[in-house]
Amino acid sequence: MLSFLKRPSTALAGLLLCFCAALTTAADEAKPNRVEIAYLPPKNPAHQPIHDEIKRVALLDPVRDLLSTFRLPRTLLIKTEGCDGEINAWFENDAITLCYEYLEWIGEVASKRRAPIPASAVGARIGPFLELVIHEAAHALFAYLDTPVFGREEDAADRLAAFILLAMPPEKAKDMLAGIANVYLDEAGFRSTRHLKRRRLGITRATVQADEHSLPLQRMYNLLCLAYGSNEKEYDMLVTSGLLPTERAEGCADEYRQTRHAFARLLAPHLDPDATERVKARFRLQFPQ
Ligand SMILES: [Zn+2]
Repeated sequence: MLSFLKRPSTALAGLLLCFCAALTTAADEAKPNRVEIAYLPPKNPAHQPIHDEIKRVALLDPVRDLLSTFRLPRTLLIKTEGCDGEINAWFENDAITLCYEYLEWIGEVASKRRAPIPASAVGARIGPFLELVIHEAAHALFAYLDTPVFGREEDAADRLAAFILLAMPPEKAKDMLAGIANVYLDEAGFRSTRHLKRRRLGITRATVQADEHSLPLQRMYNLLCLAYGSNEKEYDMLVTSGLLPTERAEGCADEYRQTRHAFARLLAPHLDPDATERVKARFRLQFPQ
């Protein structure tokens, strides 16, 4: 008996190995529909109306459905939560946290009387919200799917968010793009687009440039460039209006192609075909060939 425990037969060892392997496979088997959502009670009473409103309109439902198309090895939670005054969002420990403070800030920018770029009330709120949550979801996908990333992960997350937003019908995508650009402009201290060409930027602290994210205006131009690169005719006004400098615009088709190629090679193989077709039809998504 002792010798049996000490040295299990090769057959038994093989059986145990198979059994353990089967258990591991069952636990790690990637499946679609592994995204859950939660609207946690806010800590700050001032955020209660935001909590009630986003719960009422089921704001996270479409995001959950969109991301449920990916076959994930384990569940991903997306939650809204109070962050003690911090305007932030992050992915950590299989959960995306969206602070009520961040949603409040998006609402404040959207409510400003004169937006630098005209956007509808919906585009001004939903655009930045979607960009935020898909950006965080990108971090989650890179981690869950062990996606190789060349360059800064923050830029890659921005690109993936832009790529998915740009698959929406152009009239919707343009409206949301305007809302997102307004948030970046606000962050960079611009109340209009008129002075973009002339104003010199005074960056308060040199260490701002050490941030893992690109600077707000760089993020805006990256987004606009991908939009123009995705469809030069549709987004022609970005260049004719002077918002996107021609020097940058020249390479945007290549930048978009590179992003599309990365998506096709690295992420598309993890999409569940049936779920993806349903979601594409529901959101009228079109990924240019
Ligand atoms: Zn990020």
